[in-house]
Amino acid sequence: MKRTIAFLMIFALLLCAAGCHKTPDIPATDTLVAAMDTEMTLRLYGDTDNAAAKALTEELLRLDAVFSPTSEQSALFALNRFKTSSDPDLTALAAQACDLGVRTDGALDITLAPLAALWGFTGEGYYLPTEEEVAQTLLRTGADKYTVSDSGVQLNGDAALDFGALAKGYAADLCRAHLEKAGIAALLSLGGNVQTVGQKPDGTPWRIGVQDPQDPQKVLLMLDVEGTKSVVTSGDYQRYFDYEGKHYCHIFDPATGSPVQKDLRSVTVIADSGTLADGLSTALFVMGFDAACVHWQQSSDFEAIFVTSEGRIFVTEGLREAVSECEFTVVVR
Ligand code: AMP
Ligand code: MG
Repeated sequence: MKRTIAFLMIFALLLCAAGCHKTPDIPATDTLVAAMDTEMTLRLYGDTDNAAAKALTEELLRLDAVFSPTSEQSALFALNRFKTSSDPDLTALAAQACDLGVRTDGALDITLAPLAALWGFTGEGYYLPTEEEVAQTLLRTGADKYTVSDSGVQLNGDAALDFGALAKGYAADLCRAHLEKAGIAALLSLGGNVQTVGQKPDGTPWRIGVQDPQDPQKVLLMLDVEGTKSVVTSGDYQRYFDYEGKHYCHIFDPATGSPVQKDLRSVTVIADSGTLADGLSTALFVMGFDAACVHWQQSSDFEAIFVTSEGRIFVTEGLREAVSECEFTVVVR
């Protein structure tokens, strides 16, 4: 009799546990947005009246109009032409960029716009400049070429800024804040930037595929993420040209003035802040594998996945259980 009661109690507990894990019926809706030179997908859970999707779309288009390097109407275009701007988003992001530049020893440098133009990444076609042209252009770059204060951003001489390494991360931060306020769980894919918000309604982790740099149509590995995180990948396969057997990608080494040619093919950074994840993914790519690992060892606010030129995958300690569907080596502190 006692055993029967005990069995019934355990059975009742199991039922309760199963009930607790039952998937709540919260519908997901996908919205596509073309902004910031990329296709974005906003997957929102329980946004039944589409109000959040509409607000995020407006926000992304608004930020596109601030940070576009090419649109003559953008706030950035005006800053680069008139050398001064009091735009609040430009000012806020320039201040964060300045801090990240210091933190990464200059690997992240938002003054490289003249170099991107010289090499043809923002113009009509790619161009292989001479050493002299690169040296001359480097004179226009560096953290001393801009100042940020409460009232805005000022540029020196013929400097020009480029927020390509940070703008999508900053956009993800603003979208996340909006969704948190509205209490909506979401999976946002903003080009190479993924932002998760809240818990996935079915209780499982968010599953994010990281692209294979060798074949970007393929997924190299899966990453499980709990709660709200930014996951950002920088890689040499996103924008590049090949010439005489050499690969020239869109990420520049501020020390040489040339596209980075080190030992990494991609870096994925996972952090709480979108701006931090975006800035660091670019900066760690510039640093190369060894210096990037040292930077992780000295930090406590991010995790990373590195794919080397040889195709090996290295994963920082905190992601040991989160990465699957590939062979990898763990980087420890
Ligand atoms: P991401 O794809 O986030 O790594 O950013 C790459 C973009 O940032 C490039 O297309 C350039 O617009 C810009 N960029 C390139 N090199 C750097 C650098 N070292 N620091 C900051 N921005 C850069
Ligand atoms: Mg970046």
